[in-house]
Amino acid sequence: MQAVSAARAWSDELGAMLAVPCGDREAFDALRSAPVFVHHRELLKHITNTRAGDDLISVDGFCWACNRTSMFHLNRRPMFRSESPVANWRDGLYCERCGMSNRVRSMCWFTDDAMRGRRRPMIYATERKTAFYEWLAGRYGDSTVGSEFLGEDVAPGTVANGVRHENVEELSFSDAVFDVIVSMDVLEHVNEPRRAIHQLRRVLKPGGALLLSVPFVNDASRNIRRAELRSGTVVHHEPPMYHGYPPPGQGWLVFWDYGWELVDDLRGEFDSVELVLYQSCQYGNLGPNLSFFRCGRA
Ligand SMILES: [Zn+2]
Repeated sequence: MQAVSAARAWSDELGAMLAVPCGDREAFDALRSAPVFVHHRELLKHITNTRAGDDLISVDGFCWACNRTSMFHLNRRPMFRSESPVANWRDGLYCERCGMSNRVRSMCWFTDDAMRGRRRPMIYATERKTAFYEWLAGRYGDSTVGSEFLGEDVAPGTVANGVRHENVEELSFSDAVFDVIVSMDVLEHVNEPRRAIHQLRRVLKPGGALLLSVPFVNDASRNIRRAELRSGTVVHHEPPMYHGYPPPGQGWLVFWDYGWELVDDLRGEFDSVELVLYQSCQYGNLGPNLSFFRCGRA
């Protein structure tokens, strides 16, 4: 059993967020075996077991996005229909004030952390019609750029009804524009992720940081291609999976399940790549193995 290195961990002045970066699978496995993370998972198990009969798990805490105390709710019923539902801590645990999920609220904290100390920073989020974008624009004003994918036949950079269209495989921005880029759960929906990774690195300034989240399968070595676009036609290699809780057969098709091979793909473009394991009881960022990638351009 290995202790978390305090020198490598970082947090805010209250010590409320525990975030520890690691570079590879071996380090990650050692890290998640550290007592502080094991204890966290035991706590979650305890909460889940003591409320086994409830559809709703509610915990209180301080919402970083709302900047005040709030309640966070995890509704198990609509997401899981099995007899013994598994709580999806990462994508649930919505703040009752701002509506943002655990994953999104934690990225608010990490965005502020990444923006700190930069002079007139520019920030780009690969989302526009979301609560996260509204929070970002409220925080950083004109420095904020957001975009949505509006369709295969739309020219990159087109603005329709105030919403900019971008395809992460062919971004229309100039080189080295942004200090910080936040991309949450987009890359698994991309046909050619290496092209997207190249583009994200291209538009990042030297010294900039990409904060990237995907549904990462931390016990898988390889990436698995679930679907493929061939001449505009979708070819399925695995049973189709969609995100966004849409009607059956709609929503965002998942093209990839990512394992540790993604780290190699990221290292092919970026100068530093870390998987950050984090948790915070105070901020209601609860969940087993919560993580995101922080990639830097030298
Ligand atoms: Zn909130």
